[in-house]
Amino acid sequence: MYKVKSFNIDHTKIIAPSVTLIDTLTADNLTINKYAIRLCKPNEWYIRPETMHTLEHFFALEIRNILKDVFDLSPMGCMTGFYLTVLCDYKITDIETAITECMSKVITANDIPAANILECGNYKFMDLADAKIICKSFLNKNSINIFL
Ligand SMILES: [Zn+2]
Repeated sequence: MYKVKSFNIDHTKIIAPSVTLIDTLTADNLTINKYAIRLCKPNEWYIRPETMHTLEHFFALEIRNILKDVFDLSPMGCMTGFYLTVLCDYKITDIETAITECMSKVITANDIPAANILECGNYKFMDLADAKIICKSFLNKNSINIFL
């Protein structure tokens, strides 16, 4: 039986915020890397779904403006972070810096990217005010990089 790699991680030992390479797949000359961007310590707190949805819209757009070869960025079902899948190798610090920059964009935004009936499946299920509070709280701890 196939074992999902993230299920084999001892979640009591995960620190947050953190970025971890959790899976790699190589086929022909292409390497796909999947990173866990953990914002909340598992089983201690989580981001509300409406807020997570809002952050997903910002991060999915903004991270593609910062990093190349981004295939996917999606929320974890447990609402404690995101998965990032890229078609190349990145240093962990590059991803950490990118997420920090994404959070800066949230704080100054007036509108949520793609939050409309044509581009989203639940465009009213958002909370920009709470997303700003969450991002400010991360950035206030260390305005240079939230992961330091
Ligand atoms: Zn959406």
